[in-house]
Amino acid sequence: MQADIWFTEPHSRGFRTQLRIERVVHNEKSEFQDITIVETTDFGRALLLDGIVQVTEKDHFVYNEMISHIPCATHPNPEKVLIIGGGDGGAAAEILKYEKVKQIDMVEIDERVVAVSEEFLPSIAAKVRDPRINLIFKDGMQHVKEKENEYDIIIVDSSDPVGPAARLFERPFYEDTKRALKKDGILVCQSESPFFYEDILAKVSTTLQDMFSVTRTYLGTVPTYPAGVWSFTLASDAHDPLDVDESSLVDLDTRYYSPEIFKSVFSLPKFVRELVNQKR
Ligand code: SAM
Repeated sequence: MQADIWFTEPHSRGFRTQLRIERVVHNEKSEFQDITIVETTDFGRALLLDGIVQVTEKDHFVYNEMISHIPCATHPNPEKVLIIGGGDGGAAAEILKYEKVKQIDMVEIDERVVAVSEEFLPSIAAKVRDPRINLIFKDGMQHVKEKENEYDIIIVDSSDPVGPAARLFERPFYEDTKRALKKDGILVCQSESPFFYEDILAKVSTTLQDMFSVTRTYLGTVPTYPAGVWSFTLASDAHDPLDVDESSLVDLDTRYYSPEIFKSVFSLPKFVRELVNQKR
């Protein structure tokens, strides 16, 4: 008889998500975190960092497409892009779909996340050695401190605000990213679940509103993330996705993102709108 083994990720005192697992494929402790690959029954392989689901083969496309295509479609000429985190390689693979992008600096603190993803999640990480991707293994916080007026787009594809990612949700980091962006640059960060981490979403959104003239939160549906609804927040002093001419949007090789989705994701449910309290 096959054992019935479940992985559990607790989110609050009364809510947790569970995935049935077939086997543990890999586990190691890196300098920064516990890295595990499990084979799940329904979602293919999943990458867990410190026991938290980062990506699964079945639903990663939603997160990776939404964090990448919305800023790339908003910016008229994205040539140089910075990804902070993103060690599974999924976001970088989406950005490579834009021919205009000449260079992607991917600054991942943990070299082992990239190596493990390449070995065990090739369908997600296959493109990380593309010549347009410049892999840099270092703290993203430090990287943006050293840059000025350099990037068209910065994507903060970080893990949750615990451990090495905690400071990536704080104002000093956003100030450094703003300096690292060109004047008409776009910042996008994953801003957590509006159901279970609403304080984080509210803080990210209000901090960015204070610093940029345009701030837009949008949502995507990622079944293996807490409560299934995930938020992203985009900020810029020059480009508002709501002003993008729809005829300029291109239908690329994607499964979630599309020109129709581009505009609709900014129509927020009332409770999220109140939470982020955006102007306009
Ligand atoms: N899609 C994912 C999610 O929201 O769960 C995030 C994907 S990616 C695996 C997150 C990456 O951020 C991890 O590989 C982690 O090592 C990296 N990371 C965390 N803190 C970092 C930092 N300060 N600088 C650079 N990378 C960081």
